[in-house]
Amino acid sequence: RKDDDRKIAALDALIRGARSAVVFTGAGVSTGSGIPDFRSPGGLWSKNRPIDFDDFYSSLEMRREAWRRKFTMDDATRGAAPNAAHRAIARFVREGRASVVVTQNIDGLHEASGVPRDRLIELHGNGTYAACLDCRARHELTEVRAVFEASGDPPDCRVCGGLVKSATISFGQAMPVEAMMRAEAAAREADLFLVLGSSLVVYPAAALPVAAKRAGAALVIANREPTDLDPYADLLLRGDLVEIFGP
Ligand code: NAD
Ligand code: ZN
Repeated sequence: RKDDDRKIAALDALIRGARSAVVFTGAGVSTGSGIPDFRSPGGLWSKNRPIDFDDFYSSLEMRREAWRRKFTMDDATRGAAPNAAHRAIARFVREGRASVVVTQNIDGLHEASGVPRDRLIELHGNGTYAACLDCRARHELTEVRAVFEASGDPPDCRVCGGLVKSATISFGQAMPVEAMMRAEAAAREADLFLVLGSSLVVYPAAALPVAAKRAGAALVIANREPTDLDPYADLLLRGDLVEIFGP
């Protein structure tokens, strides 16, 4: 308890002294909003192995399965709202402490909590809409779902006939180059690098804290479970983010 309070005070002091912090978030910031993560016990991976990009690309049956899961998940998490951690992060940006929020999440909750689009780097895309894999034309999920439910198949791109996929990055799919480069540049210029709710096992995203630290940033890791980078953290908080930043 006492130790926790001391660490939260230390975190507070680091943030108040920061001018170019990078806040790096994973699924753990959103579990407090009722969106399950992948790797925790009871997380999504204990139920379903994720569908790789190649499988989605090459198999109609996999595309059907991917869309079925997507709509089921969306129904289960409809109405999810930002929690205390999202709100604190948005405040760091507003107050000029943090330069950007770099997220692995696809749930749109950082934007919903008021982080401006130009301060938000979504490394794994955004699950609140769909896009054509060939021409990138945006498709709304409601349109995709209407076609899927009427015909049993997802629609092809209305512009070029290409495959339409949730605008997220699957395993085996190329990372968005420009987002990755912006995140790397921000990490190199950061005075503070805050890892919040990420198991730090997905590369290349997990390389960012190392790059930041090497370039001189203080590294803070706040996560419920240990991560491989814990030994390099200047401050380590092992706990629930909603409690750390709450209420
Ligand atoms: P992860 O599931 O690998 O790790 C999440 C980490 O957060 C775990 O180590 C867990 O211990 C911790 N955690 C969970 N709830 C917490 C809480 N309340 N307080 C503190 N820590 C908590 O997630 P990841 O590292 O982000 O990578 C998995 C990939 O899955 C991401 O790349 C993302 O694209 C995708 N994903 C996104 C969402 C989302 O958008 N909300 C949800 C699930 C998965
Ligand atoms: Zn297209």
